[in-house]
Amino acid sequence: MLQESYSCMNFSDTELASLVEQSLTKLRELNVPAIPMNYHVLFEHIACVNTALSNVMRVYLDSKHHLDQDTMRSLFDTYIAPTFRDHNVMSAADLDKVISQTMGIIDMGRNSATELAGEVSEVASSLGSAASGAANISGAVSRLAAAARDAIARAQVAEQELAANRDETRKIRERFEAASRAALTDGLTNIANRKHFDQKIRQLAAQAMETGDPLAIAMIDIDHFKKFNDTHGHQLGDSVIKLVARKLATECRPTDFPARYGGEEFALAMPKTREDAAFSVADRVRQSLAGKTLKKRGTGEPIGAVTISSGVSVYEFGEPIDRFIERADKALYQAKQAGRNCVKLAN
Ligand code: GH3
Ligand code: MG
Ligand code: MG
Repeated sequence: MLQESYSCMNFSDTELASLVEQSLTKLRELNVPAIPMNYHVLFEHIACVNTALSNVMRVYLDSKHHLDQDTMRSLFDTYIAPTFRDHNVMSAADLDKVISQTMGIIDMGRNSATELAGEVSEVASSLGSAASGAANISGAVSRLAAAARDAIARAQVAEQELAANRDETRKIRERFEAASRAALTDGLTNIANRKHFDQKIRQLAAQAMETGDPLAIAMIDIDHFKKFNDTHGHQLGDSVIKLVARKLATECRPTDFPARYGGEEFALAMPKTREDAAFSVADRVRQSLAGKTLKKRGTGEPIGAVTISSGVSVYEFGEPIDRFIERADKALYQAKQAGRNCVKLAN
């Protein structure tokens, strides 16, 4: 398949063979597992057919960080898979189109068959009223008309089946899309889950390297939450987790990416954001919670405020994502050490 798609880019067989060889050599040199996905990434980079990918690859290679499997997957997902996805989406749309076209054809066929049957019936009745010698002809034409009516009935059944097929195709696609969304969404808060965040942050880091824009994250943790649960119960604890998720989602920009990272921990990715701006966002979320006196639903009994602590880090181009997150985590730990209800910047 690779051979076929790249031969469209006017590589000669010799050039293609050389690119394949270079990609395999590079795989070995970088100590990256020789699986098709990794090979594909290196091939597109070496063949210079994917500028965005090559921009990011150059940063990674220059910074000499080991390209781990998560990073390779992320590069593949960000820069190569979308071409396949577009192709698949197109295939589904094409399938719908083909079905619609087929229905159109059947419709036309049915209309012409209706006309034919009408015409044949007319001929039959006119023949019937003519000379008696025409009786046989009249009988034959009547049979023809009956056959045409059968054909119409069959075409109608086929049309209904095709319509049902089209609905089924749409439903399958909708179910597939809903399942994909659910796999990446946190059930309690309805914001992105950790799996989604892990995917997204790799994409955002690659994009940041490509464009040169800064990328910041905030790791956020609810303060003394164990005590909160112990005092007020798990259910109220769950409501607080939902509240923090809501605050996070509403206080950040539409381009930011909030996620529930774990039990009472959250992560916020902020593309195109420098350290001072990221600090302000994290602090705004903190303040909006700290300034809110919570009350028990039903009784209205006040339960005070819930506070959060945050650690903010800015991506150093080429650093492994785990280290990027770990630096924000360390800053979060410092915020806890500093007495909680505050935001600290990573080193
Ligand atoms: P710190 O200020 O140091 O973060 O203290 P903490 O008590 O928040 O930290 P710790 O990690 O010891 O406790 C986290 C608690 O969060 C423990 C767990 O019961 C609670 N928790 C985790 N997930 C959920 C959840 O989904 N619902 C509820 N209600 N509580 C949760
Ligand atoms: Mg915690
Ligand atoms: Mg906590």
